[in-house]
Amino acid sequence: MSDPTRPQGPKIIAVANQKGGVGKTTTTINLAAALQETGNRVLVVDLDPQGNASTGLGIESQDREFTTYDLLVEDAELADVIQPTELDGMSIIPATVDLSSADIELISNEKRSFLLHDALRQPAMDTYDWDYVLIDCPPSLNLLTVNAMIAAHSVLIPLQSEFFALEGLSQLMLTVREVRQTANTKLRIEGIVLTMFDARNNLSQQVEQDARDNLGELVFETKIPRNVRVSEAPSFAQPVLQYDPSSKGAEAYRALAKELLNKQLTLAA
Ligand code: ADP
Ligand code: MG
Repeated sequence: MSDPTRPQGPKIIAVANQKGGVGKTTTTINLAAALQETGNRVLVVDLDPQGNASTGLGIESQDREFTTYDLLVEDAELADVIQPTELDGMSIIPATVDLSSADIELISNEKRSFLLHDALRQPAMDTYDWDYVLIDCPPSLNLLTVNAMIAAHSVLIPLQSEFFALEGLSQLMLTVREVRQTANTKLRIEGIVLTMFDARNNLSQQVEQDARDNLGELVFETKIPRNVRVSEAPSFAQPVLQYDPSSKGAEAYRALAKELLNKQLTLAA
């Protein structure tokens, strides 16, 4: 499916929230798979030293010879760091724990906040013809997340449907605003997606109400339900769309991809 608001080159989306365990990696993997399913070519960038997106997409640690660390710190070529996944037209730049020292190693590098931006705008990017690049951010507002926000066109924020969900969001928004005022004036919020939603739980409903009251249009209509198939899929090294294509979780991520694509069509109109 083509997107008329798509910039020259791929649309780059950073999946960010400084809280851990809110569904960033799950959303990155499964939204990527859902976009792939509708015919898009998708690159996933694993920017978390934990490497969960890499594992979840079937790249075991011993197969991660070149990683985002090499891309950012060692100036590696895109061709060396991009690895195919099982899905046609979907690739990944994997991560290992090496990436956790990038902050310190880059401290005297003046361009340290722009490394991912520059890496994803190398002329070699054109040869791949990606439609989307999804960046799985670490659970921190550190140099890596700032790199993602400077490289990206938009930020997609998973919000776990539980107590304290909205806490910390203002700091995330502040960081987005700071990046917008300085290094990346066009950065948008792609949307906020409620994850691990449990319709039988009053707390989930309350979080949804609060989010919609306070954040309005920014919140996607689509909610990702808490679904055991979603949590099982990574141990089978697959997106839930492959692991259990008709599960509630797979359906929800398809709906999210559709909403994201439609939103862009509306913006373009
Ligand atoms: P983050 O990347 O923000 O740290 P993850 O995507 O790794 O968060 O999710 C945290 C945990 O919650 C993982 O064990 C994941 O399998 C589980 N999880 C995420 N989304 C769902 C869901 N919709 N239903 C059930 N479990 C989920
Ligand atoms: Mg993660």
